[in-house]
Formats: sequence, C-alpha cells, structure tokens
Amino acid sequence: MRKIALHLKILLGILFGIIIGIVLTQFSWGTTFVINWIKPFGTIFINLLKLIAIPLIVTSLITGLANLKDIAQLSKMGSRTFVIYISTTLLALTVGLLVVNTVRPGNFISTETRNEMLASFEGSVGEKVREAEAVKAKGPLQPLVDIVPENIFEAAGSNTNMLQIILFTILCGVSLLLISPEKSAPVVAFFQGANAAVLKLVDIIMKTAPIGVFALMASLVAESPSADIFLALGMYGLSVVIGLAMLMYIAYSMIIYFMGGLNAIEFFRKIIPAKLVAFSTSSSAATLPVTMECVEDRLGVDKEVSSFVIPIGATINMDGTVLYQSVAAVFIAQVMGYELTLANQLTIVFTATLASIGAAPVPGAGILMLVIVLESIGVNPAGLALIFAVDRPLDMCRTVVNVTGDAMICVVVNKQMGHTLKPKVFA
Ligand code: ASP
Repeated sequence: MRKIALHLKILLGILFGIIIGIVLTQFSWGTTFVINWIKPFGTIFINLLKLIAIPLIVTSLITGLANLKDIAQLSKMGSRTFVIYISTTLLALTVGLLVVNTVRPGNFISTETRNEMLASFEGSVGEKVREAEAVKAKGPLQPLVDIVPENIFEAAGSNTNMLQIILFTILCGVSLLLISPEKSAPVVAFFQGANAAVLKLVDIIMKTAPIGVFALMASLVAESPSADIFLALGMYGLSVVIGLAMLMYIAYSMIIYFMGGLNAIEFFRKIIPAKLVAFSTSSSAATLPVTMECVEDRLGVDKEVSSFVIPIGATINMDGTVLYQSVAAVFIAQVMGYELTLANQLTIVFTATLASIGAAPVPGAGILMLVIVLESIGVNPAGLALIFAVDRPLDMCRTVVNVTGDAMICVVVNKQMGHTLKPKVFA
C-alpha cells in the first residue's frame, strides 16, 4: 500500500478535528467531552514540540557555528539576516496599512455591535492592558537587558527566554571557533551526535502530529464563540487575511524567486508541514522543530545558516503579527471614531516593529503587544474588545506567515552566503 505523506495526514487531522468539533458541540455534553477527553492530546503534542525546542536550538547552533570558517562569516550572516528581517517587517506593515486604508473595515460595524463587543469583552481587555503595562513599565532598554541571562539554568527553565539561550549558545560557539581545533573537536563531536539524536526525536514527535492537530482543532472549535460574531467582524477578519495572503503569495513569492533563486511554488510546497503545524498550534516557538526540519531536509539550506536564522527569526521576526497589528490598530481607531493622521500611521510602523521584536512566539502575543501600539497613537486600548472574539483564527493565520517569513529569509541568506540548496528529503 502507498504510504500517505505526513503533511496529508496532518491536513486530514485538521479537517477531522474541525468536523468532530462541530458534530460533538451539537450535544449538550459535547464541549465538556472535547475538553476532558480530546484537548489533552493537543496539549501533549504542543508540549512535546516545546520540550524539544531548546535542545534543538543549542545542538543545532553549536554544530552550525562550528562549520563557519571564522567570526567574519558570522558577522556577515548576522548583519544580512537583520537587514532582511527589518526590511520584510516594514514591507508587511506597508501591506497591512494599504489594505486597511483601502477596505476601511471599520465602516462595516454598526454602533450596536460596537457597544455589544465593548461590553462583553471588557474584563479580558483589562487583563491584557495590565500585562502590557507591566511590559512597558520596565523602561526602553529593558528588552536588551533581558537578552543577557544571569544564570543559564534559569534561562533554560522557560521557553519564553529563547533569546537568552540563543545568545549564550552563540557566545559558546564563538569561543569554540577561537580555541585550538584539538580542544574544540571533542566538544563539537558531542554536539553533532546530540544534534542527530534530537533531530531523530523531532521525526518521532512528528509522527504524532496528525493526532495532535486533530485534538487541537476539535478543542478550538468547541471553545470558539458563536458564528454571529465572526460575521459581524467579517470585513476586519477578511482585511487581515487578504493582507497576509498578499504578503505571502505576492511579496514573498517575488523575494524567494529573485533573491533566493527558488521557484515559489516549490518553496511553498516544501514547507507545508511547518505551515500546518503553525496553523494548528498558533505558536512559532512550538513550530520551530518542524520549520528547522523543512528548511534543512526538504529545502536543503545549509545547517550553519538554518541553525542561526530560524531560531532567531522565530523569536524576533514576525511579519504576520505586525501586519495584523497595523490592520487591527487602524480598524479599532476607525470604529471608535478616531481620525488617524499620516504621523499616526508612521507611529504604528515604528511601535509595531519594536513590539514584534518583543513579542513572544506564543499564541495571543500579538494582541497583547497591540495594547502598546494603540497607546502610542492615543487610541483607548478598551477598543481591543472589538477584535477579541476573532483573534484566535487570525492568530493561526498570522503564525503561518511568521513561520513562512523565517523560512523564506533562511533561503535568501543561504544564497547570499554562497551556498546552494541541497535537499536531503525529496517530497
Ligand atoms: N502566535 C504568534 C506566533 O507565535 C504571535 C502572535 O500572537 O502574533 O508567531
């Protein structure tokens, strides 16, 4: 019998999850059943992916850096990566602002719906505003301070400290490059072996992905708000999705072709597993092991590039998130009756760029950082209530774009560093 490809199985898992979620919630006991007996399998899948993230980053980065000829190569790769990260972030913001100013989704909301939303999500907004205030209260240079851990075991204790782990590992990798080869060789050999084992583990975990995404989708459907809310906010949701699709399928396709030397269709096909996992988990961090596998094995990016670009990209490069934030900020302003000037829109670009760097690669991080964007343009963050109900499906879509953006940049940097693509798996 012909084996079904993994990405097809994952897709089937997503579809079945949605269907079972819809069917079961028709019964009075359905939602409780899904939450008690199906959702835990989704949580286990996400936990497994997160479990492997830090060992994967550490072992891949050390082995990747060991392949570099010297420090100059690292700084060349670093500077190119950052320039492209910032450029695509600005591109994403431009697309978002263009779409929201053209469609003007705020005009499609009745005063009644507006008041209803503001009243029903007041509590949840209060919570987000308090969390965002705590982030802001720390001062402008705090994000920089936060990258440098004082204790590596403490840093490894939470997946939200991924940048700290990356910094520590890069510093270790650099020192290994600087000491004599006979001293560094056994250390590098150990990490190479450990990396192979961790990659095998990713393969094993991915075998459970169809069940994991099935459980995630079923519980998402069971816990999601009624269809009426989706309809009321249809134009807003559509604007975000149109913007994301334009960025991914038009802008990224051109970049991957002209700067990465790769056919866009082939690129999109090869990263399907990562996109599907991003869609069902809403977390770039949880998707990281799958993104690494797609980029290294299926696309054939050199390890020294992927091990550097992907983990850093997952934590600081979020094109989908900034695009969503620009649409959401302008939409909220439109509904609440604020007139935004050009200067306001430029402020959105500036703060959303910084906010995306600070946003954690986890579900719902984008809406939290949106508080800061709204405050920067003088819009009352209570307006967040308007978009709360539809945030999860949009989070799923923007996470797909975040992950796709990282993979795309990886291919471009690979080319700029003079490597050719050497796929190991042909799918
Ligand atoms: N969920 C997104 C991610 O992990 C972040 C966001 O909320 O926009 O990439």
